[in-house]
Amino acid sequence: MITLKGAEVSAKIKEQVLSMNQELNGYVPTAAIVRIGERPDDLSYERNVMKRIAAYGMEAKSFAYPADISEEEFFAEFQKINDDETIDGILLFRPLPKHINEKRAEAMIRPEKDLDGICAVNTAKVFAGEKDGFAPCTAEAVIEVLKAFDLPIVGKRAVIVGRSMVVGRPLSMLMLKENATVTICHTKTEDLKAVCQEADILVAAAGKAKMLDASFLKEGAVLIDVGINVDENGKLCGDVLWDGLEEKASAATPVPGGVGAVTTAVLAKHLAQDRKSTRLNSSHGYISYAVFCLKKKKKKKKGRAR
Ligand code: NAP
Repeated sequence: MITLKGAEVSAKIKEQVLSMNQELNGYVPTAAIVRIGERPDDLSYERNVMKRIAAYGMEAKSFAYPADISEEEFFAEFQKINDDETIDGILLFRPLPKHINEKRAEAMIRPEKDLDGICAVNTAKVFAGEKDGFAPCTAEAVIEVLKAFDLPIVGKRAVIVGRSMVVGRPLSMLMLKENATVTICHTKTEDLKAVCQEADILVAAAGKAKMLDASFLKEGAVLIDVGINVDENGKLCGDVLWDGLEEKASAATPVPGGVGAVTTAVLAKHLAQDRKSTRLNSSHGYISYAVFCLKKKKKKKKGRAR
């Protein structure tokens, strides 16, 4: 069995991003990481994202607000970030606190800055199979893993366990776009094991520690474990019990070190892709792009002088 290590996939994505950035003639794309409160998992994800974006030659700025920020105050701040021409992409950490309307934030984010594919325009583009929309990074990371290891998708039976808007649903559309035959499972699926056993590619995205095991797999199937859970010993684990997999699967992603390690690389890729297409190919054209770069440089200088 091949262990599908996320690090190998992100190394390939890094090469693509560095090459895309070279075409930006010195312009450095900048992401805004928007966080409310101090949840430990958000802080750790933020550190990873900041590190990854820097390693890929771009910039990330953290915009952190107290957990008790009022809804109006937050949306006023969010609008400023959304309108800020020096910010190329936005990652909004969710879930937001209950008193802040998440749907409103999703609707507000400008599609071209929407790094994690949360707004309706990007969702529609993903569901329509269009090329230029941003898919949620984790869903896209699954496709990146399969492609990086040259695992065939065309014509294969893909079974996805989980139907969330973050992973299962968008992934089903991305798989369909790659010409897989897709089945989505959920808590009401009858005989889950039998359905999983039909899969050439089985994706576990249920968020239930070790709920699947080797007996759910067809001989030679590829297993992608998206789940990130904490087991009874406080250790990170996926949705699939690793024991016994080696005799059954032809390839599998580990947890940790699998899909999770690719998600932030995809986020960085979105940041670079966005700049490449909107600044170089937009109706503003090359001249306005150059003026924009100059403005951004001046603004940065001013900031340093303060
Ligand atoms: P979610 O919103 O809770 O959705 C879970 C989905 O799994 C639901 O559709 C649910 O079905 C289904 N499900 C749950 N238990 C099931 C069962 N026993 N049998 C069949 N289906 C079941 O979770 P999510 O946000 O999609 O995340 C899923 C997992 O991926 C989590 O472990 C999360 O931590 C991880 N994740 C990883 C990354 C990464 O970077 N690797 C990013 C995001 C999420 P119903 O719709 O019927 O309730």
